[in-house]
Amino acid sequence: MHVIYGGTFDPIHHGHLRLAVELRERLGVAEIALMPCHVPPHRDVPGATSEQRVALLELAIAGEPGLTMDDRELRRDGASYTAETLRQLRGEIGPDKPLAIVLGTDSFAGFDRWQEWQRIPELAHIIVVQRPGPGLVPDGVPARLLKERSVAQVDALYDAPCGHILQMDPPMLDISATGIRDRILSGHSPRYLLPDSVWQEIRRLGLYGACPDGNF
Ligand code: ATP
Repeated sequence: MHVIYGGTFDPIHHGHLRLAVELRERLGVAEIALMPCHVPPHRDVPGATSEQRVALLELAIAGEPGLTMDDRELRRDGASYTAETLRQLRGEIGPDKPLAIVLGTDSFAGFDRWQEWQRIPELAHIIVVQRPGPGLVPDGVPARLLKERSVAQVDALYDAPCGHILQMDPPMLDISATGIRDRILSGHSPRYLLPDSVWQEIRRLGLYGACPDGNF
C-alpha cells in the first residue's frame, strides 16, 4: 500500500514524525511518504519558503528509511489539489495497488469543500486520524461519507485499491508548528519539540525570526 501524509510542515516537528512512525507500524507498510503542500503567501509570522521546508523535512527524515518525501505538489505551479495529486499518483502506481491519504479529523471535517472531493474516494482510501477539536457535524457530508465507507480493520485497506475510510486514534504529541514558530519569534527555545538538526538549520537560515547567534 502506498501511503501519503500531507501537510505544510512549516516546520516539520516531532508530532508529525511520531505520527508517521506510528502509522507506518500500524498499517504494516514499508514507508510513509510525507508530502509538503503549497502554503498561502500570507501567514501571521514569517514562514519558510517551499525549498526551505523541503530542506528541513529532508534533515528530519535523514537516516530513517521508513519515511520518505514526495515534493510533487511543490513542483506543480499554483495551488495543490489533492484530487489532482492522487490522479497523478494513481497513474504511476497503476489501478490495483492500494493508495491511502492520511487526514486529521480537522481537515476531514471540511472535506466536502475540497476541489473535486467526490473523486478522491475513487482514487484512494482515506485514513482519518483523531485530532483534538469539535469533530464532525453529525448530518454533514463528511459524517455521511464516513458512515458509508468506514471499515474497522487495517486489513480491509488491502482488499481494494481505494474507497474505504479507516479511523485511527494513534497517540499524538501536543506539538504544533504554530507553537514552534511563536516560541522562536519570541526568543524562546523550541528544543526537543523538533529534531536538533532541523532546529540548527532554522537558526543557520534565520527562519521564523530565529537569531543565528542566539545561545540556545
Ligand atoms: P500549524 O500549526 O502551522 O497549523 P501543524 O503543526 O498543525 O501546523 P501541519 O503541517 O499543518 O502541522 O500538519 C500536517 C498534518 O499533521 C495535519 O494532518 C495535522 O493534522 C497533523 N499534525 C499536526 N500536528 C500534529 C501532532 N502534534 N501530532 C500528530 N499529527 C499532527
